[in-house]
Amino acid sequence: MDGKVIDGKTFAEGLRGRVATLAAQFAQAAGRKAGLAVVLVGDDPASEVYVRSKAKQTVACGMTSFEHRLPANTTQAALLALVAALNDDGAVDGILVQLPLPKHLDEQAVVAAISPAKDVDGLTPISAGRLALGQPGLVPCTPLGSLMLLKDRLGSLSGLDAVVIGRSILVGKPMAALLLAESCTVTVAHSRTRDLSDVVRRADIVVAAVGRPEMVKAGWIKPGATVIDVGINRVPAAEAGKTRLVGDVDFADVLPVAGAITPVPGGVGPMTIAVLLRNALVAAHGNAGIALAAEAI
Ligand code: NDP
Repeated sequence: MDGKVIDGKTFAEGLRGRVATLAAQFAQAAGRKAGLAVVLVGDDPASEVYVRSKAKQTVACGMTSFEHRLPANTTQAALLALVAALNDDGAVDGILVQLPLPKHLDEQAVVAAISPAKDVDGLTPISAGRLALGQPGLVPCTPLGSLMLLKDRLGSLSGLDAVVIGRSILVGKPMAALLLAESCTVTVAHSRTRDLSDVVRRADIVVAAVGRPEMVKAGWIKPGATVIDVGINRVPAAEAGKTRLVGDVDFADVLPVAGAITPVPGGVGPMTIAVLLRNALVAAHGNAGIALAAEAI
């Protein structure tokens, strides 16, 4: 693989290995395994695939996986009751409610009901507030995984110009907060940003989290910049009837200009579940009152 290409798959494997080692030590110290509960409402096929993959990787890392599958017509009250029961369950360290929820359910209210101590997705208002305030807490998996790849490649990020394209609660906003905490000078661009390519061209670090296939082109990138492509877009493949995955960055176009770049697939994507497992392990230590050195993971 080109030395410029950031291999998220290998990094994620390494992270899962560290999680597995620490999960075994946790089980010894706590007298129980760390536990991650995943709640899936309805039968969306993509969510189904994610949930199965999360459960498999949770068990492979030496943690207990609790799966709760509820029918699509589940009521808000029933879902909130399940979240409350999981909050109270001493065997459950992390709770993940697979999004999106069916339209009749109030997603914000459900997420807010998750105990911050078990908020492995980092999406509750308390977790988001802690991140904004620079306080310790659980952080959304995809931006934290992106940050890990950046620090692995660049070392200190202090003083670098970073442009995050996208301001979603899931990716863009927490990514910007994490980069700010690393002392980057952060610009957050979005659909109303004027002269986007000029804004991006200033950046030493570009994080694209837009959801627009191959939007970012070579001419937008400062030579040598590090490019993190969070986008996952399915587009028609050359072969009739087939599809392929592409990012928000035109990889082939940008590769010669960038100093380093994540591919799609195989870049940020594999990091998301690995960081989820990391967050579950961090939550388990917190819940059991067992210290975990920040640098251990
Ligand atoms: P959202 O749709 O929630 O947010 C997209 C953001 O991009 C918005 O802030 C929007 O601006 C901005 N945007 C849209 N069009 C433009 C444009 N033309 N120019 C500049 N900004 C624009 O998406 P997510 O943040 O949830 O996800 C982004 C991408 O990352 C998707 O492809 C998604 O599939 C992928 N993803 C990948 C994950 C992984 O594991 N690798 C996990 C999560 C997401 P505005 O706010 O003004 O509307």
